[in-house]
Amino acid sequence: MGNTMLWTKTFIPTLREIPQEAESLAHQLMLRAGLVRRLMAGVYSFLPLGLRCLNNLCGVIRQEMDNAGATELLLPALQPRELWLKSGRDKEMGEVMIRFTDRRGRQICLGPTHEEVITDLLSSHISSYKQLPLILYQIQAKFRDEIRPRFGLVRACEFIMKDAYSFDRDEEGLKKNYRLIFEVYNRIFTRCGLDFFSVEADPGVMGGSTSHEFMVVSQDAEDAILACPACRLARPFKEGASEHCPQCKRELEKVNTLELGHTFKLGTKYSLSLGANFLDEKGSARPLIMGCYGIGVSRVIPAIIECNNDKNGIVWPPEIAPYQVILLALDTTEEKIMQAACALYAKLKSAKVEVLFDDRDERAGVKFNDADLLGIPFQIIVGRDTLKDGKVELKVRKSNERIKDKAPEVIKRLSLLAGKG
Ligand SMILES: [Zn+2]
Repeated sequence: MGNTMLWTKTFIPTLREIPQEAESLAHQLMLRAGLVRRLMAGVYSFLPLGLRCLNNLCGVIRQEMDNAGATELLLPALQPRELWLKSGRDKEMGEVMIRFTDRRGRQICLGPTHEEVITDLLSSHISSYKQLPLILYQIQAKFRDEIRPRFGLVRACEFIMKDAYSFDRDEEGLKKNYRLIFEVYNRIFTRCGLDFFSVEADPGVMGGSTSHEFMVVSQDAEDAILACPACRLARPFKEGASEHCPQCKRELEKVNTLELGHTFKLGTKYSLSLGANFLDEKGSARPLIMGCYGIGVSRVIPAIIECNNDKNGIVWPPEIAPYQVILLALDTTEEKIMQAACALYAKLKSAKVEVLFDDRDERAGVKFNDADLLGIPFQIIVGRDTLKDGKVELKVRKSNERIKDKAPEVIKRLSLLAGKG
């Protein structure tokens, strides 16, 4: 990703009005800030700013997964339906899975998930206990024939997921990897600036024994949990049941939530049906013990926005922000202002600060509004007023704090605060 960009050279179609198609606050802001556009119901294009946020999020995920010893690969979206018939999930998936027959007569589906494909892959390449344990993951598009796509990226027909799979020789190994990824997820969602809960859940169509959902409080709710208002201890919501916190005895409250991540102890469900075995020390064949771990990457973006906004727009957590700094030249027709802004832009570029330069010939009010809407953490304002004393203004988007200082001082401050190298 490039570090710097001129607004006039990129594509950021911001909107002043609230678009009609937006059913939720987060989706309104995504459309208004020019992050995404709808192609058809449930199908979205990521525009340049949205893609930068998505890439930053994927960067956080990759860093945490790799640190935990997982390795990335990329599996195909096109899958032979035969594998789903073998695992028994062709029927379970029902109408949700998109299926078709290609010109060669092959029955194909667009992957809603990849347990079958990865188990099939490992069945021919794992032979010995010495190759275990193993954790593999991918970040890839998934497909679902949603009858009612909703809330923009939240419930879409094409979406991006991070799916990880662990392979162990025994339950003990699975337990260890499950715990490991559970902690990885806590770190990822914390770095995303999310207020989240992890709740024990029903494994459902995935099968297996234990599963946990990572939920965020949301008005784009698909689910609900019961949570203690004091201890934040959470459990699945059951209609009609009044429950009290085992710790502080307060009554648990119903909270509407959106699922962002899900972890499953699969056990041998897929390795048995797809014949994925390894040889143990005694040379006897045993099925791989599996776990799978998903994050709905593209729906994490609206969840972050819902947790991080104010009346003027988005307030990105720095790790996910499309740029760290937006530079505003308030009057592009005035040579002195443009000279000062261009010099500052060049210096920020060499200090490796990620900066978007608003070089549009627009009124100051439009630029201020757009800068707040975009939610980039720091704004540098160069205008007639600031240049009078040879200074520029630095505004912190989140706190609204404003500092006037000489350009080199501002750059020094920003490379400390925002420089990601
Ligand atoms: Zn409590």
